[in-house]
Amino acid sequence: MKVEELVSLLYKQGVKLVEFIYVDYTGIARGKTIVLEQLASRLSDGMGITRAMPASTMRDEIVAVKGFDAIGEFRLVPDLSSLRVLPQTPWVATVMCDYQMQDGTPLEFDGRVILQKQIKRLAKLGLTAKFSYENEFSLYEKDENKRLKPYRPNICFSTESMEDVYVFLPEILEDLQRVGIEPIAYYPEAGAGQHELPVKPKEALEAADDLLRFKRVLKSVVKKHGLYATFAPKPNLDQAGNGAHLHVSLWQGEKNALYAEDDAMKLSQLGYWFVGGLLKHMPALLAFSCASLNSYERLKPSHWSSAYVAFGQDNRETCIRIPSTFASDPAQTLNIELKASDACCNPYLACSALLAAGIEGIEQQIMPTQLLDSDPALLSQTQREALGITRLPQSLTEALEALQQDELFGEMLGKIGLETYLKVKQRDVAYFSDKTPAEIAAAYRDLY
Ligand code: GLU
Ligand code: MG
Repeated sequence: MKVEELVSLLYKQGVKLVEFIYVDYTGIARGKTIVLEQLASRLSDGMGITRAMPASTMRDEIVAVKGFDAIGEFRLVPDLSSLRVLPQTPWVATVMCDYQMQDGTPLEFDGRVILQKQIKRLAKLGLTAKFSYENEFSLYEKDENKRLKPYRPNICFSTESMEDVYVFLPEILEDLQRVGIEPIAYYPEAGAGQHELPVKPKEALEAADDLLRFKRVLKSVVKKHGLYATFAPKPNLDQAGNGAHLHVSLWQGEKNALYAEDDAMKLSQLGYWFVGGLLKHMPALLAFSCASLNSYERLKPSHWSSAYVAFGQDNRETCIRIPSTFASDPAQTLNIELKASDACCNPYLACSALLAAGIEGIEQQIMPTQLLDSDPALLSQTQREALGITRLPQSLTEALEALQQDELFGEMLGKIGLETYLKVKQRDVAYFSDKTPAEIAAAYRDLY
């Protein structure tokens, strides 16, 4: 469709504003909004954005990185295929952007640009990836002092808790569909006010865009009903955490390249190698998939969130789970799940890291450690060592240390990207160093 036609169509629908959105290393979606009439001229020019923004923390501090400062401008250039009208404010359209130089050169530190590069690397192996985030979230209401308190106690999978959400669930489902997300199920989870809504897998870039759209749509619907939704990994320290388990499958055309009929788990040789690459890079991968301080409150042994570098079939205590396939169509349903993943991440970087590690696994034919069919926390240290099972990083600092040692991800981010990523996250670590875990949890709850 020509841009004039698109503008005229949006105009007829009542759209007046178009947001140019990007996601920085904090995982927060940010952007600038233009009036619809400006869209045609801004399509290739993009929106100007100060060069300091890529170095921003979640509290809007700018960390010191040469080249990311108050002088000069980058451009936010929209990817029109990602344009959606916001269901709750239908006079606003929103579009995802890539960071570019003023001459149109993509900027290599930008997560969305990085993911497009990894997709191309995968294509060289004749493969495409599909991803889906399995979103868990916690609902809150305000108490008499206007403080947030969990919305109703939950009983996992209970009809009582379903009824709490049925009041606005049709609106959530409809709004998700209106932005192109296809929910496949809903259920109450184990934490206070905690619920889950898995969605259909999509091609990598759209799936990463969808995580941001999902969070926004859901928050916006429940807000209308006087509630607040958070995707923070551990908003209540004494309750189950919110995972955003990341599922990936690899495709050769219509064929699921992870599938092999003759394997006990139905995982192909290529699938084993992919898992091998993930496990090899897991400690550093967590710097992207579990990218907040609060993420490590969630990753505790025997909490179904995973705490060890291991893999197993339907094992909810290993960071990689191979979900059992469904008998009606095993070849379509086989996928690999990263449990050590939450929604505080920059989804482009999390998906990129997963692809980079998996591609290395395929190229170097890395076989994973032994398949585990028990909770690694219940094994002795000697048993774990014999099986090659190590503990996941236990803090953001440990994950960042692993990232500093990891050449693959250093290359993926580029020099300035790596320096900035580390500094942004280390600033969070320093800022929260004198805060209690409850204060940290509250800060993430309120922002994510
Ligand atoms: N809430 C758990 C987590 O933190 C996951 C529970 C489940 O397996 O769905 O990942
Ligand atoms: Mg769940």
